Formats: sequence, C-alpha cells, structure tokens
Amino acid sequence: MCGIMGYTGVEPAVPIIYSGLKKLEYRGYDSSGIGIVESGKVELFKTEGGPDNLKSRLPFKSSSAVGLGHTRWATHGAANEINAHPHTSPQKLFMIVHNGIIENCSELKLRYHLDSELKSETDTEVIACLLEREYSGDVKEAITRVMPQLTGSYALGIICIDFPDTLFCAKKSSPLFVCTDERGAYLASDIAAFPGDTGKIYRLGDGEIGIIKKDSFKVFDIDGCRIRKTEIRLRDTEEYEDKGGYEHYMLKEIYEQPSAVEKTLDSIMSDGKIKLGCLRMNRERIKSLTRIELIGCGSAYHAGLAGAYALQKLLKIPARAYIASEYKSMGSVADENTLAIIISQSGETADTLAAMKEVKSRNAKIVSVVNNRYSTIAQESDSVIITRAGREISVATTKAFSAQLAVLYCIAVRLAYSAGRIDRERYRALCAELLSLPEKSRQTLEKNEAIEKIAQILKDAEYTCFIGRAADYCTAMEGALKLKEVSYSHCEAYAAGELKHGTISLIENGTPVIAVCADSSALSKTVSNIKECKSRGAKIICITDSDYDGDADDIVIKIPDTEDLFSVSAAVIPLQLIAYHTAKKKGCGIDKPKNLAKSVTVE
Ligand code: GLU
Repeated sequence: MCGIMGYTGVEPAVPIIYSGLKKLEYRGYDSSGIGIVESGKVELFKTEGGPDNLKSRLPFKSSSAVGLGHTRWATHGAANEINAHPHTSPQKLFMIVHNGIIENCSELKLRYHLDSELKSETDTEVIACLLEREYSGDVKEAITRVMPQLTGSYALGIICIDFPDTLFCAKKSSPLFVCTDERGAYLASDIAAFPGDTGKIYRLGDGEIGIIKKDSFKVFDIDGCRIRKTEIRLRDTEEYEDKGGYEHYMLKEIYEQPSAVEKTLDSIMSDGKIKLGCLRMNRERIKSLTRIELIGCGSAYHAGLAGAYALQKLLKIPARAYIASEYKSMGSVADENTLAIIISQSGETADTLAAMKEVKSRNAKIVSVVNNRYSTIAQESDSVIITRAGREISVATTKAFSAQLAVLYCIAVRLAYSAGRIDRERYRALCAELLSLPEKSRQTLEKNEAIEKIAQILKDAEYTCFIGRAADYCTAMEGALKLKEVSYSHCEAYAAGELKHGTISLIENGTPVIAVCADSSALSKTVSNIKECKSRGAKIICITDSDYDGDADDIVIKIPDTEDLFSVSAAVIPLQLIAYHTAKKKGCGIDKPKNLAKSVTVE
C-alpha cells in the first residue's frame, strides 16, 4: 500500500509534497518521510508515524524544488525511522520511494552480497542498491536492467543525484500517476494528492518507465521505446474532504450513507427502473450463465456475501462469494458461462486484482464494482459499475460498503428480471424497495443515541459474539469486522445455527451477543438461538425490523422494515455505530486503526 508523492518544479518542494502525503495517508501511516535535493546532496527527513508526526521535522523554508515523499504501510521491517522511506543507495547516488513488495528480496540480497551495505530492513533499499550497481550514467537504462530482476509489485519514485531536477518512475501492479501544470510536475499513488485542478494527469502502465522534468514528461517501455501517453479525463473531480464538523471521518461517512446509496442508485436507476446497459448482456447471455462468483476482501467480501444471497435467491443459479486471497489456491472452476463480480473500494486491492486475473484467464465475464474509475481493476474489467460513495477517508469502510451493496442488489434484480426469473410486478416492487433504501438508512441513523449506550457494555467485554442467519449472517460478519478494526475488541460472527455446534461454549454470564434479526425468513430460528444464549447468561442486543421485543433486560434496536433480500443495507448501520462508539470509548485512533491501511496493494 503506502502513498508516494514527488515533485519537481519551480516552487519549494516540501510544502507541496507534505500536503500530498496528507491526502495519501489513508494508504499507510506507520512511518513517513520526505527527501529533497539540497545543494547537490540528498537530505532525508523521516519519522515513525504518519505525516502529522513528520511535520515538525520538515524544512518548510527550504527552497529545494525537487523531492520525494512517502507514507508507509510496512511489509519488510518495523515501522520505525530507519525503515521509513525514502531510502538511498550505498553511495547516495539514488534516493527512492516504493509502494509494494519485492518478493525475491532475500534472494537478491544473497546474490549480490548486499547485507553489509543495507541500513534498513526494507525490500526497498535492495532496489536502491541494484540501481546503483547497474548505473553507468543512464538512469533509464539502469531501471530497465533492474526491473526484470524484481519479483512482486512496485511503484517507484527515483531521484539520481546526477540529474537533480528529474524524477524517474516505474511501476508494476501498484498505481502511479503523473500530473503536469504550470508550477511543475508531480508524481503520486493517487490522483487525490495532486494540487489544484488545472493539471494534465497521466496514468503510468505496468512495465513503463517515466522521466519527469518540470516542463516535460516522457514514458518508455522496458525496451527503451518511447510510449505516447494520453491524458486521463477526469469526469468527476473529487474534492479532498474535511470532517465537516464530525469528530471523525468514520462517523461522517456513516452519516453519508443515505446520500452515497442515493447517488449510486441515481446512476443506475431512472424512472424507477434499473439501467445496467453497461453490463452488455442480453437475455440469452444472462440465461446462459451457470454460476456467479463474487470476489473481494474484507468488507467487500461481505458485500459479496450479501450480493450472492440476493443473486442466488432471485436468479436461481449458484452464486458464491470468495475471499480474493483464497480464490486461486482453491482452484477456480469459472468458465465462459460464469459471471465474475469483482468488488473493491479502491479498485487497487492486490489480492482482488490477482483473483480477477485468474478468473479472466478462464474466460469468465468480468464486471467490477469499484469506487475509483481510474483504478487498475476498473481499467481491466469487461464492464465497470462505479459506486458513488465519494472519497472515503476512514480506513474502516462504511459508505463505500453500502454503495457496493446497492450496486449488487441492482445487478441481482436486473439480471433476474431480464432472465425472466421474476415478473414485472415483482421487479417493480423490488425497484421501489431499492429506492427506499436511502430513507431507511436515514431513519436507522436516528437511533444513534440508543446505539451509543451499547458501547458502554462492549467496551469492557472480553468477547462479543455476533449472530445471524441468511442475510443477517452477512450483516453480523460485517459488524464484527468493524468492531475488530476500529475498537480492537475480540469478537466473531457466527451463523446463528452454528453456535450450538461449538461456539456456545464461549458464552458466559454477561457475554454480549449481538443478534441480527432483519431477514424475516430466519427470524423464528434466530430467536431460538437468542434464547439458547440467554439461558447461558448472555447479554442480548438485538437489531431487528420485526415486532420481536425480546425480554425486559434485552436491548432491542428497531430499524425500518426492509425487504429481506436487501436487509443488510439498514441493519449494518447500527453495527457500524456500535463499533464507532466502542472505539471512541476505548480511546482508539478510529480513522486510522493500528496496522491497517485503506488501499491494500500487496498480496
Ligand atoms: N515494502 C516496502 C516497505 O516495507 C514498501 C511498503 C509500502 O508499500 O508501504 O517499506
């Protein structure tokens, strides 16, 4: 993951790079650093922690107009100052920043006896050493010699002291963009880091090498041949958001869910109907589908579970969600009659990308659901549906998850109708239900005060159990993930019927059990499971859209009645709020939980 920001131009580099890093810290924040060229020498400023920690060490008065910055999510070596980027080569000829992971770095260290030359534990410093070894006056040539030796993924920003005004860059499987404007040229992992909105933006492709000067940008392939790049047209320039009066981005984004879902539905539906022409599948093609695979990681996997549930129920063909990192090892059975739905907020998730490549090689039809139209997954899919969640800053996703759900539900309803699995009346009713989801989310958010009290119970709990059946199981899984991510509480989600097959042994006097009862098809059975937990001393917290009131000492949060197929949409909101308030009461760094990063670009 990690964020890279580079600049070469006519203005002092440090403030520009620092402000870019601030916008990239969602990608990693365990250590950070900026390197500039000052009087012909490389100067490094690094620290443990993200850009906020770095700020006081930076030479904001320096007139240097070239430099590289990095905010890190460590893969090799502890999150400390020494391992923070930029790294330099042994003779300090090269300074580099790296996003990704070099899988054969131990092998390279051995092959070139690098151990005595390395100061850090990072894989990145190995690249700096190799560049210096391969360099004989031509940086591009050195990069083309080093690239084939590297296995893994990388986006690299490089400065060679012999060409102090020039940034070099190269990439494989990690995103990298270049922007040029009247003040100079910038290099970054994400378009969001570029200042202003007048620049021309280019996306570097895999295997490409870029040479960036303040007034020119040239790209070459690995054989040294020039490649002409076309500018990316920004259809919707996203502003870098602020907290808008909320204490944390997570809370703000939880509250933005009705609008995120509304905007997403607006982009897919009109006149109360679902328009998914972008799928480019006619009735015959849809009917030829024999299976649907939904692939994602973390919350996107949970959205996939909820989508699979709706798809299988409506379309009546096997639909299954897969954890992207497990996909390949399980042995794919996808073929040309498979529809693969690839789900990723960033569109850069390395595990998801790898699974997508696998499923693509098996000729499945690929539809991606991403929040970033310029992402690698979006570029490499047959069809792309963009979620309209807007920029999500909190590492723990909320509004992007809800927008993913909305898209998946629309796909399920549209495919089922086109394939003749549901009649016009049911189709119309489901479309009306979809359009009511933003309002139901709004009404659910009104329960915040009652929900906040639950955090008081959870904050001291040694273990919390989430249960649910059918769609409620997907909700429970997402709720447990949120709680773990932001409040570091031990908890797990169980299919409610599975409890008695083992986990019920963990229930003790006072153990909080959060039962999701929003899918009416499973209500009576989940209620039995609630009773079983209660008999063993559990403290019951129930989220339901039914009439179920529980016992007097249970906490019951009522949410608006929602169509079972789409019930995750509203039911997940109380669980997100529970996670948020618990984390707040425990004093956790809510928007940037420890050890996590938002865009996971390593496998
Ligand atoms: N592998 C590099 C490191 O551990 C870069 C990690 C990143 O992408 O942040 O420093």
